[in-house]
Amino acid sequence: MVRDRRGGRMAARLLAGVAALVLLAGCGDRESPATPPAGDPLVERLVAMGIKREHIVDRGDHFLVQGDIRINKRDVPGMKPLPRTPGGPTYQRSNGTVTGRIVRVNLAAVDAEDANWASATRAALNNWTNIAGGGITYVEGAPADVTITMYSGPGDCTAAVGAWPSAGAPGATVVINRSYSGSYTLAQRTWIMTHELGHNIGLAHTDQSFGTLIPGTNTSDGGSVMNSGASYPGCPPVAPSWSGFSAGDQTALRWLYPGPSVSISGKQYVAKHESAPYTANTSNGVAPYTYEWRTRQSGPSTSGSWSSWFSTGSSNVTYASINSCGLNTNYLEARVTDAIGKQSTASYTIYLTNPC
Ligand SMILES: [Zn+2]
Repeated sequence: MVRDRRGGRMAARLLAGVAALVLLAGCGDRESPATPPAGDPLVERLVAMGIKREHIVDRGDHFLVQGDIRINKRDVPGMKPLPRTPGGPTYQRSNGTVTGRIVRVNLAAVDAEDANWASATRAALNNWTNIAGGGITYVEGAPADVTITMYSGPGDCTAAVGAWPSAGAPGATVVINRSYSGSYTLAQRTWIMTHELGHNIGLAHTDQSFGTLIPGTNTSDGGSVMNSGASYPGCPPVAPSWSGFSAGDQTALRWLYPGPSVSISGKQYVAKHESAPYTANTSNGVAPYTYEWRTRQSGPSTSGSWSSWFSTGSSNVTYASINSCGLNTNYLEARVTDAIGKQSTASYTIYLTNPC
């Protein structure tokens, strides 16, 4: 079923000239002799959350799920089975999230061993950080929330393994299989690391049934970086080349981690020389916020130019007025910056009731 759907989407994409045919990592689909038996309450909990039994591998203190997601056993009792509709759409991504909005990553081991994997990891950090309107920042730093290491796993059909968030903390590890390093270009490694680091902040597989469907995303998304090995069968795994997030990926990130959003309120119609207060109203993002403003005034025969941005610090109020004949409109913009550097800008138009 997955392959049929995938085939249709591939055809469409090729017709559009968007992407070359690529196949990846069949980890999610492969049978494993380590599949745990029925009756283990932790396994049953995972199954209740939409993970197929054959996609669960017991690894001692953790489960390996759908080929590349590490879930600590100690975290499973606290994971809630999510509401599901029998016969309804496949639920895609999970809303397991991390509490902090800055995720620090340790690349020392990868830096020491493989410059290309290190470059790909840095690109992946920037990919998630730079989603417009998103509210999470991946940075290098200490103490690390996520540590990237390499391991040898010849023949295990796994390119890399991310980890599921644990008690509000990001998944603590990403492990990269050095046995397959020679199989990948930099662009493919960037896709892989973007995918794994998506797991570490709580994004599940778009094409699997673990997790809830995030509002505004589709039940099938051939361009999603969070599609699993079931959409990219093969061993050794072959990855897509990174070519950007799908719209659904970006919607999912913004829904899980919304960046700041600002709007302006105040009088829309003023008299000449009237100094009226305007308030920037911010939602989401991470407090405290700082505020900047700028204005541009125009009239029937002049369009004016923007002032420089001026700061009101932590105050979200400024005053504006129109004081000259020949002007009848004041354009006001507010720019809010949150505690982790994410910005949002709002515009507001003020009209003069008695122009001269
Ligand atoms: Zn995955």
